[in-house]
Amino acid sequence: MATKEDNLKAIISHAKEYGFVFQSSEIYDGLSAVYDYGQMGAELKKNIKEYWWKAMVNMHENIVGIDSAIFMHPTTWKASGHVDAFSDPLIDNKDSKKRYRADVLIEEHIEKIRLKIEKDVAKGIKRFGDDFDEEQFKATNPNVLRNQTKIDDINARFKAAMDDDNLTGIKILIKDLEIACPVSGSKNWTDVKQFNLMFSTEIGAVADSANTIYLRPETAQGIFVNYLNVQKSGRMKIPFGIAQIGKAFRNEIVARQFIFRMREFEQMEMQFFVRPGEEMKWYEYWKEARLKWHLSLGISKENYRFHDHVKLAHYANAATDIEFNFPMGFKELEGIHSRTDFDLKQHEKFSGKKLQYFDPEINESYVPFVVETSVGLDRTFLAILSAAFTEEKLDNDTSRIVLKLPIFLAPVKVAIMPLTRKDGLPEKARDVLDLLKFDYNCQYDEKDSPGKRYRRQDAIGTPYCVMIDHQTLEDNTVTIRDRDTMEQERVVITKIEAILKNKLDIREVLS
Ligand code: ATP
Repeated sequence: MATKEDNLKAIISHAKEYGFVFQSSEIYDGLSAVYDYGQMGAELKKNIKEYWWKAMVNMHENIVGIDSAIFMHPTTWKASGHVDAFSDPLIDNKDSKKRYRADVLIEEHIEKIRLKIEKDVAKGIKRFGDDFDEEQFKATNPNVLRNQTKIDDINARFKAAMDDDNLTGIKILIKDLEIACPVSGSKNWTDVKQFNLMFSTEIGAVADSANTIYLRPETAQGIFVNYLNVQKSGRMKIPFGIAQIGKAFRNEIVARQFIFRMREFEQMEMQFFVRPGEEMKWYEYWKEARLKWHLSLGISKENYRFHDHVKLAHYANAATDIEFNFPMGFKELEGIHSRTDFDLKQHEKFSGKKLQYFDPEINESYVPFVVETSVGLDRTFLAILSAAFTEEKLDNDTSRIVLKLPIFLAPVKVAIMPLTRKDGLPEKARDVLDLLKFDYNCQYDEKDSPGKRYRRQDAIGTPYCVMIDHQTLEDNTVTIRDRDTMEQERVVITKIEAILKNKLDIREVLS
């Protein structure tokens, strides 16, 4: 049976073979945790961005989008707390010389205990069938209770150590839990150190510390510093949101999981500005709305779960992650944070400018509270790609690899193929291409047998293949082949556009 690692390997090699994702600077042996999107990947990524933008900006009257610069005034990062506190606790294994995030080692240990609980629950379901009451079982089963207490104790010790910046406490916890290095198997650990994740460089010709600027580690601050500009120029009334898609950079300690953890990546963020005291209502609203967005991609519900933060970031009063069942297990896909008025207040303090809003409904001025939704574009890409990647056995004892992507996200929407390269079929096929290319990303393919061409399109997730054959020359009809059912339907050329329009309509998905 294929393991999860095999599955990830198969996805990585498929992504390379078909032009989705390449290792950056591969001819120089690559750059660790940096990736390039190829011809198919760039299309898929663009389509995901557009879909997010449509759902967040176009579908909400009170959300607008901006595009702020990557470089920002260095004081921004002092104000936001990133210069002092944007760090991860790192630990090295002395035998394997591998570096880890101490918090991730602890989280993975907790996950193992949680899986034991899940196993016990599964046994219970098997034993009691329809009569099984999961809540009661979890509240009474001694094994489950013991394991849950273990998890709670670890979480409490971890939180206390992180809150006090007690790095020795974290090392002791790792020792007490007998966590071993997955590579060397040894428990021979260094002390835990804090490591700032921001990349810095110099602006202008003179290199001195006064000219140090940072590559932004999150896009959010570009929204905060523009909050008043947007509010005033757009005459926005609270509650309202500002969205943005853009690159962020983090000098990640551990970078071994393909595009899941990159040093240069893209975020799709939205900051929602609300009246103080109403933030929890909006936090709940956005939790639900964002999960709904993910589910609208057609991936089944069991692949998602919420994970509330035990240790809150310095700016948050509530935070949760939407986790996805990636090929390497459940991991964070999106963060939803109630950021209070922390950021705007800090920017007021450091800039000396007022960032208040006059609320005409209650006749009061205040610094708004903020609820943030922040999803990684690359992680969304990986989630979609891994859920779509399917190896299918066919009736005739062969198999195919097909990317069952949501059709509105597919890089190529229609492949246009003449059955043969003669008898005027290529010319006719190009006429069809000319008809469709203004509205859809099409691919023209005349090489190899139809079967091979269909497989190639399956492998990149093209939902429809239009075949032009000799009958087309007689009666202007073509066949349209459906990627998922592999069924072919004969239709007149003039109808293709209407059929595609209907199949690619995202009204229902978005509403
Ligand atoms: P993690 O705990 O996995 O490091 P985080 O909690 O630091 O993530 P946030 O600061 O909440 O992440 O960033 C919001 C989103 O940005 C994440 O949910 C994730 O999808 C994405 N993201 C963060 N870091 C990376 C990265 N190194 N590579 C790719 N995507 C990332």
